[in-house]
Amino acid sequence: MTKNYTKDDSDVRLAEREWMVQKQLIGRDITDRAVINSMLTVPRHVYVKEDKQDYAYYDTALEIEESQTISQPYIVALMAQALNLKASDNVLEVGTGSGYSAAILSRIAANVYTIERHEELAHLAKERFRNQGYENIEVRVGDGTLGWAEKAPFEAILVTAGGPIIPEPLTDQLAIGGRLVIPVGDKGEQKLIRVKKTATSDLIEENLGLVRFVPLIGTEGWSETNPRHLQ
Ligand code: SAM
Repeated sequence: MTKNYTKDDSDVRLAEREWMVQKQLIGRDITDRAVINSMLTVPRHVYVKEDKQDYAYYDTALEIEESQTISQPYIVALMAQALNLKASDNVLEVGTGSGYSAAILSRIAANVYTIERHEELAHLAKERFRNQGYENIEVRVGDGTLGWAEKAPFEAILVTAGGPIIPEPLTDQLAIGGRLVIPVGDKGEQKLIRVKKTATSDLIEENLGLVRFVPLIGTEGWSETNPRHLQ
């Protein structure tokens, strides 16, 4: 399902976005039509600082506020594709950051609930969603490693920060048939893991390759005060 192009789209940004999708996504292994349409639709330049907007469609992660990052477009597409989203899905994202990946998910699925530990980032993301008219995204400030029990179960959960383990509250909040995508490993490098919950509530894990994310900090993640250790 593709929703509308946004009001602030200039022809230049649209051309840049088409180039990004063609070169960085279709040119690699992104084949999910809904993901491709969403990446064509959401203006990535709106999710970065003003002085970074000219680089928004480059094949790279960029720094955002609070020393965090907006992920590389290809990685956003890869994770969204791995979630195998349906239009009726209830989705949880841990790590709102700029809001970009939540926006991508929101153009495909029914509802997106996204949690960010930094208040300023949550606030900026909320403003962006309001300006874009994206009404199916709810943002909360908190520890996403504990999930969002009131909105569970989720058909899909995306974690956009790298943790030492797969948080149990997240697998508990996954629907039968649900998919969880999360980077797991140490601070330097993580494996991108997809967990599927079967009809008998078994969890099946697949390794989708190596990635590098900022740390997942929280009760079921890394400790903030001693970032080399678990909480
Ligand atoms: N999805 C983001 C985007 O599109 O910009 C990418 C965000 S960045 C790679 C990861 C984010 O996870 C950071 O903003 C960080 O503050 C947040 N984070 C880390 N641990 C968290 C936790 N336990 N709960 C919620 N957010 C967390």
